[in-house]
Amino acid sequence: MRQRIKLHIRGIVQGVGFRPHVFRLSRKFNLSGCVFNDLRGVTIELEGESGRIKDFVRTLKKSAPKISSINRIKEKRIPLTGTKGFSIIESRLGKNRIASFPSDIAICSNCKRELFDESDRRYLYPFINCTDCGPRFSIIEDIPYDRKKTTMRNFKMCGSCLKEYKNPLDRRFHAEPDACFSCGPHIRLLKKLKEITPVLDTQEILQKASCLIKGGKIIAIKGIGGYHLACDAKNAKAVSRLRKLKNRPTKPFAVMVENISALSGVCVAQGAEKKLLACPSRPITLLRIKDKKPWINEVCPEQNFLGAMLCYAPLHYLLFYYLKQFEKFPVLVMTSGNKGDLPLVASEDELCQIEEYADFFLVHNRRIHVKCDDSIARIFNGKEIIIRKARGYTPDFVNFAHKKEILACGAELKSTFSIAAGGHLVNSPYLGDLKNYANYELYLKTLSHYKKILDVAPQVVAHDLHPSYMSSQYALSLKNVKKITVQHHHAHLASCLFENNINKRAIGICFDGAGLGKDDAIWGGEFFITDKKNYQRAGHFKYFGLLGADKAVEEPARIAFSMLYDIFGEKLFKLNLNCLDYFKRAEKNIFCNLIKDKETVRSSSAGRLFDAAASLLNLKHKISYEAEAAVSLEMLAGRAKTSDCAYGFSISRENGIYIVSWQDIFSEIVRDLKTKKDKAAIAYKFHFTMAKIIKEVSLLLRRDTGINNIALSGGVFQNFLLLNLTLKLFKGKGFNVYYHKRIPTNDSGVSIGQAVVANENI
Ligand code: ZN
Ligand code: ZN
Ligand code: FE
Repeated sequence: MRQRIKLHIRGIVQGVGFRPHVFRLSRKFNLSGCVFNDLRGVTIELEGESGRIKDFVRTLKKSAPKISSINRIKEKRIPLTGTKGFSIIESRLGKNRIASFPSDIAICSNCKRELFDESDRRYLYPFINCTDCGPRFSIIEDIPYDRKKTTMRNFKMCGSCLKEYKNPLDRRFHAEPDACFSCGPHIRLLKKLKEITPVLDTQEILQKASCLIKGGKIIAIKGIGGYHLACDAKNAKAVSRLRKLKNRPTKPFAVMVENISALSGVCVAQGAEKKLLACPSRPITLLRIKDKKPWINEVCPEQNFLGAMLCYAPLHYLLFYYLKQFEKFPVLVMTSGNKGDLPLVASEDELCQIEEYADFFLVHNRRIHVKCDDSIARIFNGKEIIIRKARGYTPDFVNFAHKKEILACGAELKSTFSIAAGGHLVNSPYLGDLKNYANYELYLKTLSHYKKILDVAPQVVAHDLHPSYMSSQYALSLKNVKKITVQHHHAHLASCLFENNINKRAIGICFDGAGLGKDDAIWGGEFFITDKKNYQRAGHFKYFGLLGADKAVEEPARIAFSMLYDIFGEKLFKLNLNCLDYFKRAEKNIFCNLIKDKETVRSSSAGRLFDAAASLLNLKHKISYEAEAAVSLEMLAGRAKTSDCAYGFSISRENGIYIVSWQDIFSEIVRDLKTKKDKAAIAYKFHFTMAKIIKEVSLLLRRDTGINNIALSGGVFQNFLLLNLTLKLFKGKGFNVYYHKRIPTNDSGVSIGQAVVANENI
């Protein structure tokens, strides 16, 4: 029987070679009809024998292009039209403007082959791409995804490119950023900004750039979502110069390699890590360091892990091609091209911000419309865990049954926003610390881009309880919207419940840096009985004083001081501890008075407990990047000969809330330091103690409530030793334990949780 059906396909189906694929299938099954991008995905109309239509749909599901993903197919019978042939129709606009727009994708194997094929017309062309690969998110100005709505619109295609672009059987059919030497973007190498350079051809430029890098120079390289600062990772002088210039004494740099073999002997990469490194999103992947070669010490001092990524833009492969003249396995430091914590530099106009960091600038004229930093991920228990979600992972759409359109403004330090619209929850890329006004401007710009693309004007706005976060300030400034305030750790935990599809109450454990609580204290070592709608605070660490509020975050020695004073009173000065020597006498007197007058901000933050332990162990008294002290403690513990025993702690009950004391833990650490116990063993024991506290309080809460589900969230769980020990201690206890994989456990996941909580409370 002949019939005509209409298929609505939802998911990542635009800009990924979906329509040509449909075209080819229609030929295979001898069906007539048409296919077009609509504003929510792709629509297909098929006419022919019903059996063939069935076969078509079955094959479509199985054989969809690698980088596409089908969320839903809706099928509807429509009247026969009798038209012959199958056509690909230009995009049609509908009323509903919610669509998937694709992520930036690393160069595919076909393009890579052509890139190095001397007989190909794009031999060594730095902007080669096809429907399977290339920039998307970073060049899209509006949707539907068409060349005229990307930053490629100013490049008029030459005849040869146009022929490919129009041929449904060609790999470049409707490859929107498609270009070649004669019609597309070009690279240039500048010594000084705004200089008029002699016209060099691509090969001369790459030859020169590779010689400069090999000669120890630092080059700013324009990539997909912004600039990198690059230098030879094995050249200690170049790396340490970059550190000085960037004022980044210890924060690890990421490296880029062409092939993981370049790191064999240096890092451990199992099958899962290799797969993650090579996936089309090409995240920076954390790899365990097995042999601390001297150059590794300069690239990532004090670390047990190296962040590595494979080349992803054709330009990267070309650079490595030329670098291989000098050595078999080049390794480049590739760090974000930005000043301090400011946004990534992505245009030639902004290059002046990093002018003094680079000796040369490898630029090109394909404009970046949306900045997007590299993503960071790692393998934990065989599965991918995302730490920073940006290039290759955004825009991130997940199905979400929301009651209204919602904007969730996120937190502050690792900001993102989320928008619920059209049955999806859309999460922005990582946008950095909003305390910097430039980051806040980027946040506003990215937000308005998303609102335009999604064509939404949310009437419900969720924000953090902390009124002075810039994200909250923004929310509070909006008029005629319903505002919903969400406590920071409730948002963290709700994002975990959402990710793991838990619709019941759970014991929520949020170990975090900081978040304002309802009692005006800074929370962060929290045990909640929670669901997506409400929470009840059921336990927390005993409050301690933050000496100088935010200053205490920068100087972990202040937390150590505050805790030691609580335990030992003025006798602490007789303890002879390094963390106390960090302060001048006058400062110590001020601290004592602040504590006596109860002039400190109270906190239960688990993150600060890790900081204090790091300071006590003389690792870090002052930090140069976020969480540096806690990271150094984790790294030290990772080197311990493990033995699972815990420090003492007690759990008391006040007004129905469990209070976990830390006094015994820290006084026992002081005792261990006096008896010159191995510091790595102390650091490990501290981690084990934290995991044991999580287990013990959970057992009490299960006894009280009968709840068996555990949700773990908060920035502290980025500490994989802690996560590992926690899961280990929960094993065999009959709990269902949920943690983050796809949504970062740190503050960049908060906006998702806010949207989830707001949706329940509309
Ligand atoms: Zn390709
Ligand atoms: Zn061309
Ligand atoms: Fe947080």
